[in-house]
Amino acid sequence: MSMLTAKKPTRPAARAAGRPLPELIFGDLWEYDPAPETADPKLKARYDLFIGGRFTAPASGKYFDSINPANETKLAEIAHANAADVDAAYQAAKKAHDNVWGRMPGRERAKYIYRIARLLQDRAREFAVAETMDGGKPIKESRDFDVPMCAAHFFYHAGWADKLDYVAPGRRVAPLGVVGQVIPWNFPLLMLAWKLAPALAMGNTIVIKPAETTSITALKLAEIFQDAGLPAGVVNIVTGFGDTGAAVMGHPIAAKVAFTGSTEVGKIIMRSLAGTDKKMTMELGGKAANIVFDDAPIDQAVEGIVNGIFFNQGHVCCAGSRLLVQETVAAEVLAKLKNRIRVLRIGDPLDKNTDIGAINSKEQLGTIERLVAIGVKDGATMFQPPCKLPSKGYYFRPTIFSGVSMSHRIAREEIFGPVLSVLTFRTVDEAVEKANNTAYGLSAGVWTDKGTRILKMSTELKAGVVWANTYNKFDPTSPFGGYKESGFGREGGRQGLLDYCKLI
Ligand code: NAP
Ligand code: MG
Repeated sequence: MSMLTAKKPTRPAARAAGRPLPELIFGDLWEYDPAPETADPKLKARYDLFIGGRFTAPASGKYFDSINPANETKLAEIAHANAADVDAAYQAAKKAHDNVWGRMPGRERAKYIYRIARLLQDRAREFAVAETMDGGKPIKESRDFDVPMCAAHFFYHAGWADKLDYVAPGRRVAPLGVVGQVIPWNFPLLMLAWKLAPALAMGNTIVIKPAETTSITALKLAEIFQDAGLPAGVVNIVTGFGDTGAAVMGHPIAAKVAFTGSTEVGKIIMRSLAGTDKKMTMELGGKAANIVFDDAPIDQAVEGIVNGIFFNQGHVCCAGSRLLVQETVAAEVLAKLKNRIRVLRIGDPLDKNTDIGAINSKEQLGTIERLVAIGVKDGATMFQPPCKLPSKGYYFRPTIFSGVSMSHRIAREEIFGPVLSVLTFRTVDEAVEKANNTAYGLSAGVWTDKGTRILKMSTELKAGVVWANTYNKFDPTSPFGGYKESGFGREGGRQGLLDYCKLI
């Protein structure tokens, strides 16, 4: 347990000294002593590529730095894979598929996948610290969400591997072969698990590329693959940036490609693969609406809104970045939201008290700053709490824009940062119309006391996930994926497995 020493308000001290008690201001931020997580992340100075079950130097001999966005220090050097390395990874994956993994009975594959989940649990603290240092997210999120959810995905899919006859009732299933996967930086380990676990359970082998800024935990997971005795070449990890991702997506051996990232890059990949027979899954951007009706439990809704957009610094594809609030309760909700974000703790992500950690990279911080400046220029009213930010590292205050209209860029574009745009509505139909008036369709939230209204909204909202009276809840049994420009294909649940097999 950490030492929590209240420095403010100083009423107990004043009472003890017989002085008049200072006025208590609701929402005052109490200062806590630092409570850093101290587990050793066991980082190597240099990480090579993971090909054919071994750590392998890149053909070019080139490495790039992975830095800690919380303090701008270098954590490790990461190998930069080129087309020759990606080809070696595909050759290894094909051999592993044809000779071992694709032929192995599902009940045998399950044992390896279980073992991966258990070994990850054994090293959970170490992985949580590494994830936080490389990506900037608060330790309480990587410890309580990312790492346990990653293990949960491996457990869940291990459970499927010997029951594949039930994935498509009445049909038999077979693996596709080798799949190529590219993932973003916002949930490095979790996105890895979403991609690897179903593909492995189905008997596919994999070539995967993590994002440039967050490769470390993928390569730590490769250590677990070795410890679990996963046959060589079943999972191959090629790190890099620039052309590396395109080489993974475009390789002729890939029977399927699965991409999670921005809509812009997703479109580039789709254009480049048009005319090939590769199967595809695209998990792209979002601009979700969190919709609060006047009969909603307002305090819970405020917590849900805060969780929806400030969780993980807003680096969440399904972030509730637009708040649609019914006009009659708009003033109350906005006042409560402002009070709530005044007491969010921003700073050292390794501190167990921290609510909002570091923005993942300097580039992303620049993108957020640019879009926020446009919000101000377009005439929306900005609120930011007067918190102190660390002098080194990439940080951004939680930000609420009110007086936003549908035409404002901050209401239309994905900011991917802790920035909420507040719009109002009067009727249910207006709420649906405004929520759906976006190019995206990944997720939405509905806050209301009425069950019938929840059913109506979840039918009419064009979003892959609709949360009711909660937000940002995930489970491996529940399929996740988009409508419209948020992509296609599902990850998680039986539906996710269907995207990794052929029916025979
Ligand atoms: P991004 O710029 O699209 O990059 C995603 C990945 O694609 C990175 O690994 C990137 O490599 C790689 N890449 C870049 N150009 C490529 C190309 N031409 N061909 C193949 N791969 C290429 O996205 P991001 O900024 O990392 O991530 C944020 C985005 O991901 C947001 O839009 C968010 O909504 C979306 N996202 C969606 C979901 C979902 O489930 N729908 C989940 C999480 C995130 P580098 O290392 O070179 O950047
Ligand atoms: Mg990093």
